[in-house]
Amino acid sequence: MTRILLLGGTHEAGRMAAALAAAGLDAVYSYAGRTTAPVAAPLPTRTGGFGGAEGLAQWLRDQRITHVIDATHPFAAQISANAAQACAAAGVALMALQRPEWTAGAGDRWTHVPDMEAAAAALPAQPARVFLAIGRQGLSPFLDRPGHRYLLRLVDPPAAPPLPGATVVVDRGPFTEAGDLALMQEHGIQIVVAKNAGGDGARAKLAAARQLGLPVVMVARPAVPERPEAPRVEAVMGWLRHGADRGV
Ligand code: NAP
Repeated sequence: MTRILLLGGTHEAGRMAAALAAAGLDAVYSYAGRTTAPVAAPLPTRTGGFGGAEGLAQWLRDQRITHVIDATHPFAAQISANAAQACAAAGVALMALQRPEWTAGAGDRWTHVPDMEAAAAALPAQPARVFLAIGRQGLSPFLDRPGHRYLLRLVDPPAAPPLPGATVVVDRGPFTEAGDLALMQEHGIQIVVAKNAGGDGARAKLAAARQLGLPVVMVARPAVPERPEAPRVEAVMGWLRHGADRGV
């Protein structure tokens, strides 16, 4: 009997959950529990960590999971590494729903950097108004660049300012180009820092930056272990129907 664990916390995972539910498949959606009110999934859900790769492997065995779909964010590298290790240990088929990276087009002014430390280092010496469109995690390198005025966009209101003097807007994607254009103009943004997440939900800021002629510091994805990947929900459904037992 097929029983699926969907590792989620993304817009794409929501679409995957909808497809699994529509197909009547036995699946559990897993949230990390980072946000106070996650978007409801049309599947039974569980919340919180598993206790590392070993904890996840045990959970897979206990729950008689046959397939894991890793639809976590491309920057959630720890859970993806854990999933690869746990699936190998427990003999469970794994597929990652992995959106293609964004690539620069005509009119884009992107600087590519390997990580958040390099992004902070790439900011100019003179004070600038910076849209740190990177969520709540990975902000600490910017503590070393206190001369800039930062705009943060977070899903939940922070208990304390994540960066001294930063302006926080609370909002949840998917975002629109018109909305991001207005936000950047309102705050006089001069530079955008973005994670190369890919997908449609957060692409708007890049289009808005292009329209405004703004430079973008684009942070590369962290490394994850080699694993089978599919770019779309339909391809994962095809894998479940035809390929999963053969491990392709
Ligand atoms: P991470 O650094 O890769 O994972 C840290 C730990 O959180 C994992 O070791 C695991 O704990 C737990 N965890 C992460 N995702 C989980 C899930 N879906 N279900 C159960 N436990 C999970 O992850 P992260 O970057 O903090 O991301 C956490 C969640 O936010 C993920 O669901 C991700 O899809 C979502 N998200 C992340 C970003 C981002 O930029 N990182 C952006 C948007 C959404 P144990 O080791 O105890 O199992």
